[in-house]
Amino acid sequence: MFDIARIRADFPILNIQQNGRPLIYLDNAATMQMPVPVQERILSHYQTENANVHRGVHTLSQASTAHMEKARHTVAQFIHADDDEIIFTSGTTDSLNQLSRMLESRVRPGQQILVSAMEHHSNLIPWQEMSRRVGAKLRIIPLDSRGDLDRDALRQLLRDSTTLVSVAWVSNVLGTVNPIREIAALAHDAGALLVVDAAQGMKLGPTDAVSLDCDFMAFSGHKLGALTGIGVLYGKKDILDMMSLVCFGGGMVGNVSYLSSTWGAVPQRFEAGTPNYVGAISLGAAIAYLSSLGIPEIARQERQLTELLQQELLSVPEVEILGSPQHRSGAVSFWVHGVHPFDLGVMLDALGIAVRTGHMCAQPLVEQYGVSSVVRISPAFYNTQEEIKACIAALKRVIPMLKG
Ligand code: PMP
Repeated sequence: MFDIARIRADFPILNIQQNGRPLIYLDNAATMQMPVPVQERILSHYQTENANVHRGVHTLSQASTAHMEKARHTVAQFIHADDDEIIFTSGTTDSLNQLSRMLESRVRPGQQILVSAMEHHSNLIPWQEMSRRVGAKLRIIPLDSRGDLDRDALRQLLRDSTTLVSVAWVSNVLGTVNPIREIAALAHDAGALLVVDAAQGMKLGPTDAVSLDCDFMAFSGHKLGALTGIGVLYGKKDILDMMSLVCFGGGMVGNVSYLSSTWGAVPQRFEAGTPNYVGAISLGAAIAYLSSLGIPEIARQERQLTELLQQELLSVPEVEILGSPQHRSGAVSFWVHGVHPFDLGVMLDALGIAVRTGHMCAQPLVEQYGVSSVVRISPAFYNTQEEIKACIAALKRVIPMLKG
């Protein structure tokens, strides 16, 4: 049984007052709050075990290294991968940017790269830039009228020589959950690699990179309750072994002379410079925390809250919800005729309710719906049904005020 009161006690920020009202934090797709056990883990690291990793013979440095490697193991287990398939980066954006550079030498002029129409800018612009550099063709997989990926269109697009498909697991705007296994099968049948932007997908259920069969997966620690500035790029070992290096410096080498160098093993050869080892340790602690609550329970809770949110929003006549995907999780975005989303956000904030407004770093997608910005409400497992209902009640109050 999910003891919500006990869980909320792990997130003191949920008890603060905002603008004189109890905070209702519904911007979890932007960042998840950090639970106390993760905060304590960071503190204890600095109080008892901090030293730079990989460098020193002294005990403290070795202990710090061991803690970072333990975190790598925790991440690997979490997605059912091997430790040497986990590259620490600074976040999803960094993972996807690095990956686009790492893959560049494999892409031939004229080949296709496919991304979906629902991508975050982080999973669009790196591929735009790489296609431009290489002379590859970036094509967009369209969505159907519900906001689901159009699988027939994907099949059609895959008929032309495609080297790579990169899609979000979960859309940060529509909440659409994409069928990754099916997309992986289609991509692989066509001889293409599959990259998954899992920034919004990691709390969906047990995340099994192997059975999802993606070749690469990117995600951010801060969306799981860890520090900002830590993220992961997962890659299948046999592919990583052949990838180009894009960042050079300390910690990633085998042997260095003035005129040339050799490289260390995977994954360290992809982690030049002092890694964000405290971030990695916080991510290990965050995953341990989420696992102690039970990922399937977290997923169930977030699905139920999203369903409730959607139902409640449907009861507000002025609200236009973006999309009605078959499987939605974590976020619902909408707009209201004649009201600027920014004004709605400000009015809700005055009532202590934190939601997101803007194009959500998915400008082409939002514009497909005929608007330039939206309001996004994104619950997490520590939110309550009462908070969702209070948010919708507030919305019903402020819309008439804004419509004048
Ligand atoms: N992809 C998706 C689907 C996202 O939701 C986000 C974060 N909003 C990102 C990529 C980028 O993540 P980060 O800013 O942590 O690099």
